[in-house]
Amino acid sequence: MNASRALTILGSTGSIGQNTLDVVSRHQDKYRIVALTANTDVDAIEQQCLQWQPEYAVMSDQGCAQQLSDRLKARAMDTQVLAGVEGLKKVSSLDQVDTVVAGIVGAAGLLPTLSAAESGKRVLLANKEALVMSGRLFMDTVRNSGAILLPVDSEHNAIFQCMPQQPPQAPEHSGINRILLTASGGPFRTTPLEQFQSITPEQAVSHPNWVMGQKISVDSATMMNKGLEVIEAHWLFNVPHDLIEVVIHPQSIIHSMVSYADGSILAQLGNPDMRTPIAHCLAWPERIDSGVEPLDIFDVAKLEFEKPDLQRFPCLKLCYQAIQAGSAACIALNAANEIAVEAFLQKNIAFTAIAALIESVLSEITITDANTLDEILAADQSAREIARSHINNLQTV
Ligand code: NAD
Ligand code: MG
Repeated sequence: MNASRALTILGSTGSIGQNTLDVVSRHQDKYRIVALTANTDVDAIEQQCLQWQPEYAVMSDQGCAQQLSDRLKARAMDTQVLAGVEGLKKVSSLDQVDTVVAGIVGAAGLLPTLSAAESGKRVLLANKEALVMSGRLFMDTVRNSGAILLPVDSEHNAIFQCMPQQPPQAPEHSGINRILLTASGGPFRTTPLEQFQSITPEQAVSHPNWVMGQKISVDSATMMNKGLEVIEAHWLFNVPHDLIEVVIHPQSIIHSMVSYADGSILAQLGNPDMRTPIAHCLAWPERIDSGVEPLDIFDVAKLEFEKPDLQRFPCLKLCYQAIQAGSAACIALNAANEIAVEAFLQKNIAFTAIAALIESVLSEITITDANTLDEILAADQSAREIARSHINNLQTV
């Protein structure tokens, strides 16, 4: 790598954002931070600004932006503070930025991530919900702008690493016959089903192998995360969903596999630490130190694999149904899940109501296909309204 790369980190105060900054801190000769963004956590982003001295910082609302701006001015810093989605889009498309880390959680990341893709950036994609919502549009945008899309999600990063390094002229000659998408099974893989009703948010967010943000932790507990990842893999690698098989692998050491026509299965292994896929994407096609402990395979000793139980994890089944139903169903599934997870975290609905709520939203949506940005946003809004009305009804019962 010659000149240093200039980065915007969308969602810098989150788990992906902090892990990215940790890797960057080990290679300050190679990376420069141009912009950091956060939702409402002014204290956290103030600290990050003091450390990284970015040109820009973006907060979700004007009030938080003003607060941050006042604090930075008081410290004689000249970081420009912007607000809202326009601010996020601006820092994702700045000329001086070549790499955008898409680390915002949920649909809120769609517009800035799309903006990075439109501007032809190197896009390090963690925000899977953006791709689930906009699959075809997003991939077309990447192709048309010449953006480089690198998957940060550990499974997709593993698949990317196991893909042919020099793709054949015609995709049908790649010899790929299956993608094996691994899943830990989350904290409730062996919990008796009769206890599911009383699962608390505290139990749901304590993942056995990974430390992550709250929403993805709940998604891992319901296995919605894996379903979203099937959709993500379908778009990223242009593979039909029925060739993507979910494999429960409780140790989270193999991060996914690609199976080929000649009988080879390639796997990527490593300790479960997001700094590995982040470092891989930051440096690609080179390799850099990530700070992750090397994997001791003698310590691991045993790798296990199971088929997922769809009765235990109905969200996974709903994802397969949504993929078959089309783009609007995937958008509705994602939107309903965001509303349901938030309600569960606020203790307004039970753990088991997450899947039930999504299922009822999917049965009520009227939009069938959503491919343009306006259609995507309309389908998202409409599903959110249906989901909210169901929660209100649940609460008044
Ligand atoms: P997190 O909750 O820890 O962080 C989310 C970040 O987005 C924070 O900086 C937050 O301030 C910001 N944000 C939240 N809502 C926002 C809004 N409305 N507008 C603007 N900014 C907002 O989440 P995370 O675990 O870092 O996950 C981020 C994304 O990466 C998710 O899409 C998740 O699925 C994906 N991902 C995460 C991991 C992981 O290990 N954490 C692994 C794979 C994929
Ligand atoms: Mg993942």
